[in-house]
Amino acid sequence: MKGDLDAVVVGAGPNGLAAAITMARAGRSVLVLEAATSPGGGARSAELTLPGFVHDVCSAIHPLAAVSPFFASVPLARHGLELLPFEIPLAHPIDGGRAGLLYQSLDDTAAGLGVDGRAWRQVIGWTAQRWDRVAPAVLGPVLRPPRHPVTLAGFGLRAAPPATWVARRFSTDEGAGLFAGCAAHSFMPLTRPLSTSFGMMLAASGHRANWPAARGGTGAITRALVDLLVELGGEVLTSSPVRSMADIPRSRAVLFDVTPRQLLAVAGDELSGNYRRRLERFRYGPGVFKVDYALREPVPWTNDGCRRAGTVHLGGSVAEVAAAEHEVARGRHSQRPFVLVGQQSLVDPSRAPAGRHTLWTYCHVPNGSDVDMTEAIEGQIERFAPGFRDIVLARHVAGAGWYEAHNANNVGGDINGGSFNGLQLLFRPTVSLHPYRTSNPRLFLCSSSTPPGGGVHGMCGFHAAESALATVLR
Ligand SMILES: Cc1cc2nc3c(=O)[nH]c(=O)nc-3n(C[C@H](O)[C@H](O)[C@H](O)COP(=O)(O)OP(=O)(O)OC[C@H]3O[C@@H](n4cnc5c(N)ncnc54)[C@H](O)[C@@H]3O)c2cc1C
Repeated sequence: MKGDLDAVVVGAGPNGLAAAITMARAGRSVLVLEAATSPGGGARSAELTLPGFVHDVCSAIHPLAAVSPFFASVPLARHGLELLPFEIPLAHPIDGGRAGLLYQSLDDTAAGLGVDGRAWRQVIGWTAQRWDRVAPAVLGPVLRPPRHPVTLAGFGLRAAPPATWVARRFSTDEGAGLFAGCAAHSFMPLTRPLSTSFGMMLAASGHRANWPAARGGTGAITRALVDLLVELGGEVLTSSPVRSMADIPRSRAVLFDVTPRQLLAVAGDELSGNYRRRLERFRYGPGVFKVDYALREPVPWTNDGCRRAGTVHLGGSVAEVAAAEHEVARGRHSQRPFVLVGQQSLVDPSRAPAGRHTLWTYCHVPNGSDVDMTEAIEGQIERFAPGFRDIVLARHVAGAGWYEAHNANNVGGDINGGSFNGLQLLFRPTVSLHPYRTSNPRLFLCSSSTPPGGGVHGMCGFHAAESALATVLR
């Protein structure tokens, strides 16, 4: 690219690419600088175990991409992206061979939950049926006048209590567990206010759009975003870490797909003292420990629904899931952790050689943990799928340190760009009417450290680019 650029984006994660596409679509020249040797951040795939086994290095299951207004606004299918639904998006097994099953159909889910069908309709169905009015407000900055204030107030009232309270509305372990597992995606103790909001939004997104996986691996999302950006005239330079402002070519705006800690390291001198101090107070959340498996055959789940589910949440009863998350919040490692499992190869044969399968699993650990959780994860899988260890061909293990080395945004293994506890759930990186702006009118933050936070949805990047287009690039 010749001459001064309109915008440089630092980091080619889903949010950085969404910001760059939004710029390019508006006719602005844009260059993306990515530290790693390939673009994608938390949206990559690789043969981590054996040749022919394609694993999702980070994100795997994409309800948020499926419901994202940004993703809906770009022609990614034309660039090869196909999101594959599962017959059963989510299963939550309970000891004794039982399981709560989430189908895309609310009616089928309620029918399957039996006596808890009514509670599921009240807790999750309410949001699912009002999705178009709730989601736009939840997927953007909070301090913006909502278009449907009454519905949003209704959502807020329902989402405010701790998940452990709301779980009491269910009378079976299957119903309560299915809900609590969704809430545990928040990385918050389930006894905290607003932990329910995650459970409601994630479960409702399953009814709205399934919990799909990308054909060929999550890297297909990144390839489609990069192809589209290049088609629109943008450019991505990999192996280009930005360590200081001197590494950034002249441009009218810079959008950072990084977390506050890196923004301070790169651009601290360009920010006001007050804004710097506010960023220094930004808190990071727990980390992850992940194991990817190459399998000889599908997992021998005791419960048949689990054999057909894209995602399986392992943790048992609400009390157990809550206890495991509570341990992590207190800086300890649970020996019976809440484990998230992805079975992408069930619907995507391209993930493994004929007849073979991949398995994606991770659990939450304290930030910066260096404890090996492989045994604990496999203990939970064996609990609901005896004989699992016998079908393992190879495993790839990655702890919190591995994730931070892989991507500087994963501070201490935190995969959400910062904790969701307290005010940071709603206001990130600081309490502000304009969360994407910094104290420097030329510099913006566009990562998951801004609203609406973690996940592959591109909404942070989209909103940040809109903010730059409305101000310095007007
Ligand atoms: C193990 C794991 C499982 C996950 N599972 C899911 C899931 O199933 N579904 C889901 O929706 N989400 C999931 N996520 C979360 C999701 O991947 C992230 O929330 C999302 O990728 C955040 O996007 P981002 O663009 O804000 O940041 P990132 O994806 O982290 O991208 C940031 C990019 O910036 C680059 N960068 C950082 N610093 C610099 C610098 N100084 N100079 C140049 N480049 C820099 C990084 O290398 C990286 O490529 C998971 C994440 C992990 C790690």
